[in-house]
This record gives sequence, C-alpha cells and structure tokens, in this order.
Amino acid sequence: MKKSKTKSKLSYERQNFWAKASQAEQDAAMDYAVGFKAFLNSCKTERETVVWAEDLLKKHKFVPLDGAKGKNAVYKIFRGKTMAMAILGSEPLSQGFNMVASHIDTPRIDLKQNPLFEDGPSQMACMRTHYYGGIKKYQWVSTPLALHGVVVKKDGSKVNISMGENDDEPVLIIPDLLPHLARKEQYGKNIGDAIDASRLNVVFSGKIEPESEEKEAAKLYALEILHKRYDIAEQDFLSAELQLVPAGKARDAGIDSSMVAGYGQDDRACAYTAFSALLAQVKSKPKRTMIVYFSDKEEVGSQGATGAHSIFIQDFVNDLLAYKGECNSSSSLRKCFMNSQIISADVCAAINPNYPNVHEKQNAVIFNHGIGISKYTGSGGKYSCNDANAEFAAKVLHTFEDAGVFWQTGTLGKVDEGGGGTIAYILANLGAEVIDCGVGLMGMHSLCELSSKADLYSTYKAYRVFLAIS
Ligand code: MN
Ligand code: MN
Repeated sequence: MKKSKTKSKLSYERQNFWAKASQAEQDAAMDYAVGFKAFLNSCKTERETVVWAEDLLKKHKFVPLDGAKGKNAVYKIFRGKTMAMAILGSEPLSQGFNMVASHIDTPRIDLKQNPLFEDGPSQMACMRTHYYGGIKKYQWVSTPLALHGVVVKKDGSKVNISMGENDDEPVLIIPDLLPHLARKEQYGKNIGDAIDASRLNVVFSGKIEPESEEKEAAKLYALEILHKRYDIAEQDFLSAELQLVPAGKARDAGIDSSMVAGYGQDDRACAYTAFSALLAQVKSKPKRTMIVYFSDKEEVGSQGATGAHSIFIQDFVNDLLAYKGECNSSSSLRKCFMNSQIISADVCAAINPNYPNVHEKQNAVIFNHGIGISKYTGSGGKYSCNDANAEFAAKVLHTFEDAGVFWQTGTLGKVDEGGGGTIAYILANLGAEVIDCGVGLMGMHSLCELSSKADLYSTYKAYRVFLAIS
C-alpha cells in the first residue's frame, strides 16, 4: 500500500483519454472530429486551405490587417498560400505574443511544367509529374487521384481546377505494373527504387476525334477537352500550379470510430486545431496577443516567399506593432520576437503496431494519450534540431496539466533510426521560445494518415490554453 502511494506521487505516467476523460469530454472529442473531417475534405492544397480559412475568419468578424482600423481580430494572406491571423492583446505587443505555427502544404505529386504528351506505344495522352515532399512513390500508383490547382491566363485571370473529388467527376490514375511482369522491373529492386520517378506519369485520356488521322490524336483530343472545360491551352500549363492528391473523403476509422483516416493530416491536423483554438477565443480580451500562423513549403524545406524562412511572418508582426500604435523599428521587432512564446504545431509519429521496433517506447507518442510534446526534433545526435529551453518546456507542460489537457512527450523514433524536423528552429532563430507540440499520426505522409480523435481534441484544447497564457 505504502509502495503504491509513493509510486503515484513520484512517478510519471501518461493518461489514456478514454480511461480518464469525463463522458462529456469524450463526446466533445467525437463531435470535434466531424468539423475536422469536413475541413480535410474542403482543403486538399495550401491555396484551398487559405480560402477556407479566410471565409471563416470573415464570418467571425476578423478583418484584413491592411483594412479597417480599431478591430482586435485581424489577418493577412500572402501570395494565396500562407497566412497569419491574430487576436490583439491588451498588453504591448513589444512584450511578446503567443503563437501557434503550423504548415498547410502536404506531400503530393505535382504536374510538370510542360506535362502533356502522347505516349507512342500505348497511344494514350499522359501527364508527366514531379513529386513534392517526402513520399513513398509506391503508394501513389493505381490509386484514384484528384487534380487540384490554379492556371493563370495571359490576362491574369485565374482558372481554379478541382477534378475527381465528387462522385460524378473522373479521377486520374498512375498505373502500377502488373505483378506478372514485375520480376525484373520491380521485385529485384529495393522498395525505394522499385518505382522510378520517371514512371509516375498519369494516364490522362485516350479518346480521339472520329476519323482522325492526325499524329498524336489523343493528345490533341485531350487539349480540346481542356479548352472546352477550362478555356485553357497547352501553353497555360507552363506557368500553372497543378497538384495530384488522393481523391476522396476523410472517414472515421476503427470499429469504435475513435480515429480519423484521411489525406493531409500532416500538417492540417495541427492547422485545424490551432485555427479552431483561435476562433474559440475571438470574444475574449487576452492580455498577450494571440497569433496563428499557416506556413507553406515545409515539406520541401520552408524556403521561398511563402515558406517559414520568408520575411512574411516578421512583416506580419511588424504590421501588428504599427496597427497597435507601437514602435515598429527593426530593434522593436527583434525584441518582440525574443519576448515571444511559440508552439511549432506539427504532427509527430505515433507508435505503429506493425513497426514498434523503430520507436523507443518510453519516448514515443501513442494514440489516445493527448497532444505530443517534443522538446527537440532533428536526427543523428540532435542535428539541426530546435531544443526547447527547459524553462519554457516546463511552463508549457504544466500549463497543459493545470488545464486538464491530456498530454504526453515523444520523439521521432529511436536515436539514429532516422529523423526529421519542423519549422521550430526557424522561429527559434528569431530568438523566440519554441517547442514542438502536435498530434501523433500513424502512416504519416501516406495517402491515408491515421489520427486519434482523443488526440485531435486534446491538441485543440492545448493550443487554446497556450494561446491564452501570460
Ligand atoms: Mn509536418
Ligand atoms: Mn511532413
């Protein structure tokens, strides 16, 4: 008896949400996933996520930062692919803000700049592709894909394309090789090389004009359809952004429906939970300014105008300083970041029952035990990591605990098993306190990632209390 008392007092054990949460909380977790699945279905690309978010922000009376004066809920969109939104606090912003920073790009397969060709042997019109981010190529073949993206025409007008999501729309397929003939092409190779990037061509169409004797008749017919349907010509592809993503909807998973199966949960699981955590507090009058940031290009290194390395997020905070009537000199901006507290909101790898060996159980996230806190990421001797300060890590962890949020800690796999990073270090380079906290996934970067509704809901609650801390 005495022994177990000592244990309960001194030892740490993470809690299972379904064992310890109240019935009301369990119901709330199940309900929360309904909106999340709808979000995943509406947002398959970064551009679609930005459009979706702006629509909701307007409904919640947020205004563009460059627009009306005197509002306390503002947002800014940059290049249609990254955005930040804030609820202004009563304290000077120079004393720092609380930010939850996620990314809204996802691994996928892009069409090449000049994609369309007629394949001689098969006489089919096909599209060449170039994959985006860390995909396992073998997962993308012989599976229904939808085409999403934007074509910008000579007059600057945009054609938004989404094909393959509705039941009455066609999907696109990258056909895999039949097993009967795969002995030399695939079976003898290791899994990473079995499907070469040059074999990720989409079969686009096959019809030709009646009586046609044209060369490349299938390609010409494909161009006719594209012109009729979208009013675009072959040259318009050269500047377009067109992405192939898994077609179809996010679903409940498990006989208990306790999980969500769907594409793009890295990192839209954290984007959605952060976004809804901010919206839930739109009527609050916080002391510290709350910011939610959606970055782009995380899956390819966060570079460029819309990636987290971009000047955009600093420019946003700079504009917030001016909006609040505070000094926004470069020195003030630097100090503002150095006084700030940031959660790098990205998913982490939960233990997969098929591959427990790649994790070290004691330091891995498991489903249903709440938001996963990773003090550091990186690989091979913490290389390239952001290692959160002990002071800040303790503050965050105890904030979650005091608020009754289910939380756990975990790192990405065994030491030297592999590794990976998030945008944490980029924001930490600006002097802010930054720690990684997010939803654990099984099958990350796959066409159908798996999450736990308990963890999604816990992450939403965790972000909500974090945004409000002083
Ligand atoms: Mn991610
Ligand atoms: Mn990722």
